[in-house]
Amino acid sequence: MSFDLSARLAARRADNLYRQRPLLESPQGPQVVVDGQPLLAFCNNDYLGLANHPQVIEAWQAGASRWGVGGGASHLVIGHSGPHHALEEALAEFTGRPRALLFSNGYMANLGAVTALVGQGDTVLEDRLNHASLLDAGLLSGARFNRYLHNDAASLAKRLEKACGNTLVVTDGVFSMDGDVADLPSLAREAKAKGAWLMVDDAHGFGPLGAQGGGIAEHFGLGVDDVPVLVGTLGKAFGTSGAFVAGSEELIESLIQFARPYIYTTSQPPALACATLKSLELLRSEHWRREHLNTLISQFRRGAEQIGLQLMDSFTPIQPIVIGDSGRALRLSAMLRERGLLVTAIRPPTVPAGSARLRVTLSAAHTEAQVQLLLSALDDCWRKLEPDHA
Ligand SMILES: *Cc1c(COP(=O)(O)O)cnc(C)c1O
Repeated sequence: MSFDLSARLAARRADNLYRQRPLLESPQGPQVVVDGQPLLAFCNNDYLGLANHPQVIEAWQAGASRWGVGGGASHLVIGHSGPHHALEEALAEFTGRPRALLFSNGYMANLGAVTALVGQGDTVLEDRLNHASLLDAGLLSGARFNRYLHNDAASLAKRLEKACGNTLVVTDGVFSMDGDVADLPSLAREAKAKGAWLMVDDAHGFGPLGAQGGGIAEHFGLGVDDVPVLVGTLGKAFGTSGAFVAGSEELIESLIQFARPYIYTTSQPPALACATLKSLELLRSEHWRREHLNTLISQFRRGAEQIGLQLMDSFTPIQPIVIGDSGRALRLSAMLRERGLLVTAIRPPTVPAGSARLRVTLSAAHTEAQVQLLLSALDDCWRKLEPDHA
């Protein structure tokens, strides 16, 4: 007996689901070099254009000079340093929550929060389209795990009726592959009515959404009573790396005691926290980034509609073009690439079967002229792709 990996890999290739990693040979930004080719990219999550910002880089460099490179130990031993602590305080203030806790990344923040809050005898209810890290967290927790219909408070209410033990309702804030926004006021109402807690992972909302960039909670004006567990990631609009959970004093103390992905890992480099403090400052103060981004989103949606592309119900920087068939999505992506544009095809199992798409993401770093280039190329490629489909 041996592992038949070659058969698995061949099957994945035959299904048009084989993944390859484009090799990025430049900093992140609209103009990148990938596999030796200069390209105009519309697929990163650097929504506000901070990943390569000179002031953020400078903060990182100064942080490294002052604090060294490695975190050196876990937070509970001796890895919790001044910049980590300052960033937690700034994030608590930013989110309007009593406290915040810094994690190494969003995947671990989600695993940590869910598994610390629920276990055997409890219930975790998740939106069907939640990010993989939330679904994995639910399964790992050992709680009874159930998924409700996408963004459907009535479907959630039915499942809440049958819930037992402590019940955690978990949703993306902005859905990462569709770009639509969770109906948080309704979800919070249902959860509260049943004494359940609502946990929101707003990885894609912090930065673009809310008047101050405070994400979906700010967008809907929901406080810690409505959303007791609020998760943000720092690798997207913040342009750096890491994640945080914000909530009550008791929540954060409980995570410090019981969240294994928090406890059993080395703290992130302190200089990274210095960089994030700077990007948080820019994210909050430079409103033009959000305003420009919204202009680009409107421009793209208008143009795409004129071409006859199928967009999703999204006012966020995530603007997927639904194709359906994986092979066809790959072909459209390849045609764009021949014209110097990079838009990745997203295929199952990342998205449901039959819903392959080009996940276009816009950034404040893009110009209107660059969005126009994308629209012109899409117009041209879409015409050439169509007959093949008919
Ligand atoms: C990207 C993402 C994560 C993971 O965050 P990382 O910091 O990249 O590990 C979690 N949840 C959602 C919704 C995401 O989009």
